[in-house]
Amino acid sequence: MKNNNKNIFRFPIKRYTSALLVFWTIMVLSSLLWNINEEEDQVIQFAKIQAESLFDKDLLYRRWNAGHGGVYVPVIEETAPNPYLEGLVSERDITTHSGKKLTLINPAYMTRQVHELGKTDKNVYGHITSLKPIRPENAADPWETEALKSFELGKKEAGVVAMIDGKEYFRFMGALVTEKRCLKCHEKQGYKEGDIRGGISVSVPMAEHRAILAGHIKIYFFEHFTAWLFGICLIIFGSLWIIRNDRMRQNAEDVLIKSEEKYRYIYKNTPAMMHSINSEGKLVSVSEHWLRVLGYEEDEVIGRRSTDFLTEASRKYAKDVVLPNFFKTGICRDIHYQFVKKNGEAIDVLLSAISEKDEAGNVRSLAMIIDITERKRAEEERERLSKKLDEKNRELEQVVYVTSHDLRSPLVNVHGYSKELGRAVAELMSALTRNGISNEVMTEVEEYVRDIPESINYVNAGIDKMNSLLNGLLQYSRTGKRELIIEDLDMNKLMSQAAGTFLFQIKETGVKLDVSDLPSCRGDADQIDQVFSNLIGNAFKYLDPERSGSIKISGDRSEGRSVYCVEDNGIGIAPDDQERIFAIFNQLDMKVTGEGLGLTIVKKIVEKHGGEVWVESEEGKGSKFFVALPNKAGDRV
Ligand code: ADP
Repeated sequence: MKNNNKNIFRFPIKRYTSALLVFWTIMVLSSLLWNINEEEDQVIQFAKIQAESLFDKDLLYRRWNAGHGGVYVPVIEETAPNPYLEGLVSERDITTHSGKKLTLINPAYMTRQVHELGKTDKNVYGHITSLKPIRPENAADPWETEALKSFELGKKEAGVVAMIDGKEYFRFMGALVTEKRCLKCHEKQGYKEGDIRGGISVSVPMAEHRAILAGHIKIYFFEHFTAWLFGICLIIFGSLWIIRNDRMRQNAEDVLIKSEEKYRYIYKNTPAMMHSINSEGKLVSVSEHWLRVLGYEEDEVIGRRSTDFLTEASRKYAKDVVLPNFFKTGICRDIHYQFVKKNGEAIDVLLSAISEKDEAGNVRSLAMIIDITERKRAEEERERLSKKLDEKNRELEQVVYVTSHDLRSPLVNVHGYSKELGRAVAELMSALTRNGISNEVMTEVEEYVRDIPESINYVNAGIDKMNSLLNGLLQYSRTGKRELIIEDLDMNKLMSQAAGTFLFQIKETGVKLDVSDLPSCRGDADQIDQVFSNLIGNAFKYLDPERSGSIKISGDRSEGRSVYCVEDNGIGIAPDDQERIFAIFNQLDMKVTGEGLGLTIVKKIVEKHGGEVWVESEEGKGSKFFVALPNKAGDRV
């Protein structure tokens, strides 16, 4: 659902980029056209200024000429006397004292001649014209006629770009205003001072201006193209950068959404009690299982303090110890609380939680709660049973101790009296021999007492056996009774001491004894020494006489324990017997000396240390006895 929403707010970067590219192109093109247009206007302005200056100059020369009432110039082929002045002025033509002929040049004639020169030399056209020309050649062309007419309406000048003989020109016309000095010749035409008499049109070629314009346009093109290209690159790279960032953000968002969805799914479906609290310790979410176990509906718990669901004692512990520490460190592990169900029943739980602050500084936390009520009950039951068992064991040990102790005195008596009996029989026989009784009586008495010494021997053997059994029982019960003095044990030292007691045997039998470097452990030095003495003793005792003996002692650390192994290549133990050899008085081979108590004592000592002992053996190949002991303070195996 969330996944779809995110697209609604996505910035359509590609569309915006295209629009920006079009906009930038239009902007650059508009600027180029505007600049070209401005430049063109300027070119026309320059042409106009040029034309105006030419016109002004014409006007000045004309004024100068009119001011002098005309000027005399030598008559040459190009400057014939002006036929339009004939009769208008008295001295049109004069001859100097030296005989040189001069003719009068009026302003109009002069202007025309200068214009003729301009046409050939400078390609600049000039034309003096009027709506009422004296000279027909001065008649106005259509544009000039329009301009002259506009002068009559009050305008003083006109200008236009036009084609003359296939070439582009700027045409300019300025009005010729009748001045006082003009009336001398033009009064006859009816002009008064201030009247518009006509105009002078000047045509300036545009080619040179156009060439300059073309140069400027080239520069404009180059400048605008560079700016356009730069802008396009900027837009494209900018867009690519935004797209890349957007994609990265999107990917991160996708990952976040997926993990959020996964989190929600787990939260809803996990068969575990989970809850989240905010920085005020109030519940913001709880898992379905949480609600099921405690028997609440979601809206009954959200917004309430998580501690509201604890027993009085747990709540105090949470407020005083756990929560302050949790908000400081962001973690808490295996906190033993008691939650109270809606129906008032208390359950034991282990709570572990983590918390972190998001960018806005809000606390997000997740607590995982394991219901250990059943485990706790089972533990309590086990503890109760084990206490009971310990009590029974202690009682049994006491019985064994007392019995074995009390049995000793009658045994000592039996031993003493059997000795006495032997002695008495011997004395009886010697008394009979000394006092000379008949052979028949002697033979009969001998027959009665012959078996007595052998019987006494059997009684003594039985007493010895019973004595060693009682000794074993006493040792066994003492092992159970004795308090352990637990300390770190240097097993290399302890093992070399234990093995040292077998040096004589090693020398006699040539058995190979190998002791590897051993890890340390924790235990009662005397009792652990007893364990390994028994095991090594058995390894020697049950070697196979058919092959040379080899005994190896090794050790390693595993899962918080130190595990030692006493291995021999002896006769081995049948699979069916491997369990029962640890039980009391279990001797597999009665011919071998022993009481079947050694391994029972080993097991008792190891278990008192919280350790474990087991055997791996193959008949005819050898046995490995393993002893696992705690290697750290407080470790229970
Ligand atoms: P015992 O005094 O008879 O040795 P233990 O309790 O030490 O009593 O041993 C019980 C029995 O386990 C022994 O009688 C013997 O048959 C068997 N056993 C013990 N250690 C070994 C071994 N290393 N190899 C083979 N059999 C063994």
